[in-house]
Amino acid sequence: MDGRDTLIIAIDGPAASGKSTVAKRVAAALGIVFVNSGAMYRAFTWWVLRNGADPADTPAVLDLLARTDFVCGEEGGVGTVAVGGIPMTRAELAAPEVNAGVSAIAAILEVRERLVAEQRRYASERGVVMEGRDIGSVVFPGTPHKFYIDASPEVREARRRAEGIADSIASRDKIDSSRKASPLVVPEDALVVDSSELGIDEVVATVLEAIQAKGTPRPG
Ligand code: C5P
Repeated sequence: MDGRDTLIIAIDGPAASGKSTVAKRVAAALGIVFVNSGAMYRAFTWWVLRNGADPADTPAVLDLLARTDFVCGEEGGVGTVAVGGIPMTRAELAAPEVNAGVSAIAAILEVRERLVAEQRRYASERGVVMEGRDIGSVVFPGTPHKFYIDASPEVREARRRAEGIADSIASRDKIDSSRKASPLVVPEDALVVDSSELGIDEVVATVLEAIQAKGTPRPG
């Protein structure tokens, strides 16, 4: 597929804003692949911990980064990631120690450069709905399809509690928004959708309508 005609939908937002659920549904509706870029940062964090390194020890993290392979694939319309040859499971990616360490690792410029390169290469081969923190602002600033899914801190905390997941989302948000390298921002030309009071169907419909209004590339 010609790179210029590839459909790239960028969805950003803070932790537990509902962006993963929305991105997955939008990707299914459009028949393209859903990619959770956070899974790549989580996979590398899992690998750092497995190798006995401290996420706060930047030289040790960089040493591992230089020796680590990432393989991004696809299964049933959803992006997959393997790190150091090990395919990641949902449980590994959502482990409490990964939640606690991932934002420190994602703040390291060299880690971001490496994963952003992987994300761009992946999307050069297929259409994607990619969600994360810097997808519209840094990874694909040229796409016309940018969204920022937000929700109040109370709603986001309650969603995580309901999932039974131990996750310090307030501290992750603080690190993600204040870091020097690619902080979480609302991309200038993004459509902001607050999901606090909206049902998932409404958010998905809003996003799909906005994509259709701008036009999607013709197949072939
Ligand atoms: O999306 P998720 O909450 O799984 O992301 C986990 C962490 O990965 C975020 O808190 C953030 O530190 C980092 N991340 C990032 N840039 C992205 C996606 C995730 O820095 N594009």
